[in-house]
Amino acid sequence: MAGRIKILAIAATLMAVVSCGKKGEPVIELRYDENISLDYHEVIEAYSKLADHYSRAELFEMGMTDVGKPLHLFMISGNRIFDPETIKRRGKSILLINNGIHSGEPVGIDASIEFAMEVLQDKEGVGRVLENTVIAIIPLYNIGGSLNRSRFYRLNQDGPIYKGARRNARNLDLNRDFVKKDSRNAFSFAEIFHYLDPDVFLDTHTTNGSDHQFTMTLIPTMHQKLPTGMDSFFREEMVASLYERMNNETPWGMVPYVQTAGRRGIRSGITAFNDHPYYSTGYTVLFNTFGFMTENLVHKPFPDRVRSTLDFMRFLAAYTNENSRKITELRREGIEYTKTKKSFVLDWSLDRTSYDNILFKGYETEQVRSPITNRLTTHYHYDRKWSDTIPFYNYFTPRIEVEAPDAYIIPHAWGDITERMIANGVEVHYLERDTVINVESILVSNPQYSQRPTQGRFLINNANFDKEFGARQFYRGDAVIYVNQRSNNYIVHMLEPEAPASFFRWGFFTSSLEGGEFFSIWGFESHAYDMLQDSEELRELFERRMEQDEDFANDPVAQLQFIYDQVPQSDVITSSNIYPVARLISGR
Ligand SMILES: [Zn+2]
Repeated sequence: MAGRIKILAIAATLMAVVSCGKKGEPVIELRYDENISLDYHEVIEAYSKLADHYSRAELFEMGMTDVGKPLHLFMISGNRIFDPETIKRRGKSILLINNGIHSGEPVGIDASIEFAMEVLQDKEGVGRVLENTVIAIIPLYNIGGSLNRSRFYRLNQDGPIYKGARRNARNLDLNRDFVKKDSRNAFSFAEIFHYLDPDVFLDTHTTNGSDHQFTMTLIPTMHQKLPTGMDSFFREEMVASLYERMNNETPWGMVPYVQTAGRRGIRSGITAFNDHPYYSTGYTVLFNTFGFMTENLVHKPFPDRVRSTLDFMRFLAAYTNENSRKITELRREGIEYTKTKKSFVLDWSLDRTSYDNILFKGYETEQVRSPITNRLTTHYHYDRKWSDTIPFYNYFTPRIEVEAPDAYIIPHAWGDITERMIANGVEVHYLERDTVINVESILVSNPQYSQRPTQGRFLINNANFDKEFGARQFYRGDAVIYVNQRSNNYIVHMLEPEAPASFFRWGFFTSSLEGGEFFSIWGFESHAYDMLQDSEELRELFERRMEQDEDFANDPVAQLQFIYDQVPQSDVITSSNIYPVARLISGR
């Protein structure tokens, strides 16, 4: 029920900024050919004009961002229906495009405005994509970053002249924040995402790395994270078709995002990207959305990067429209499967024994000494092009797999976790009275903390986890989350502490590991004396240790600690090494 109330609440907060048609085509001046990307105010003005003029377009304010300005959502719907539930009931698919998450990589900001204009003006038949698909665009996600512009950001990038900052107003990288949600932006993104429940998702970027004969590289979500039917359709049909069109119908070309597989550089092959849930597509695949990150090359001129992104948008929208029925059906089946899923792969290892062959086109390179730093650096011979078939390692094997419990219990004290569950469409029940329940607990030992913060948090890189079954006290208001929901992947990936993007890893539960119960040596001395007097067994243990261990015999605090450790420890241990979230397993 919580899920439905949530969606109604969102619908009520929807506010059309501008609507209704007017006479005369709106004038929107894109300046990417002059090496200029529109700024935040110009972007919102452009979409306002479009929404003002075309009845098939609407601009909505959807939640807040860290800088204090609202996140906008622009929608184009052929039959002027903007309510996602009605859109879905009529069998249409939804494509969501996110831009400017790294606002120094603004290609998609400008490309999306042009794409929206083309669709609305039906330029060269592009408007056909509205037959079966509704287009939704987040014009600019990292508003705080884009308001903070400089000529000197991303100096390794060929334009635009002024670029926004990578991080947002709270100095967070929003492309690491999708699941943990330390930013208001991430909460608002979740609001949009779960409101629309898009079938297809695109997040637009620019790389930081190497140069090749391609302008565009692509990170499709890791196909094996999708349920079986979706997986094969995605890899064999959808992604394959996009590569084919980008390579055959445009001057840009497109290959997978380049991560080299071996020492011989690109000729040894490239590897697929494991998009963990804190990345955009790693987040959207948790909810069975077909996701893509475009990464065009940092070395290519800004106008070419915008145009190649625009071409990808055209092809993705056209494919979604032409295959709308199949896409929505596969998703429906995938979501049903996810609801009943019991076993979850939490992380993967690259399989170095199986690969696809792809055609790669590069430039010959040479390692030369930099005249500035004397460092060995890659020099590209742009006049010496090469092309060859290389392996693309695109398959993974499960590295960590768990059987999910029937439910998790999140104590009331960890309400920040429950809040994030609700933001992700998770249905939450609450205990109605204080009660003792038999549960499986995870015992944490030897946690290894990162030495430096990452995204404002000290990560727990490693720990030992053991399981124990037994009675635990819970209280009225503790949250019970059943693993029988469409958000199952989010629930398990975030609550199983071993998972790479879990709340535990991000340090949400660090205080639970700090202990806190102790004895004061000043007050404890006389109690220790009484304890030794009262127990012959303890007295013998103590005396033997004193005789056998010289260091111990010379360390009064260690002696008191030894005696303290002999008191029944169950209560003390309970509060210091049990992972707070409990696993509820029926029939045990
Ligand atoms: Zn980026």
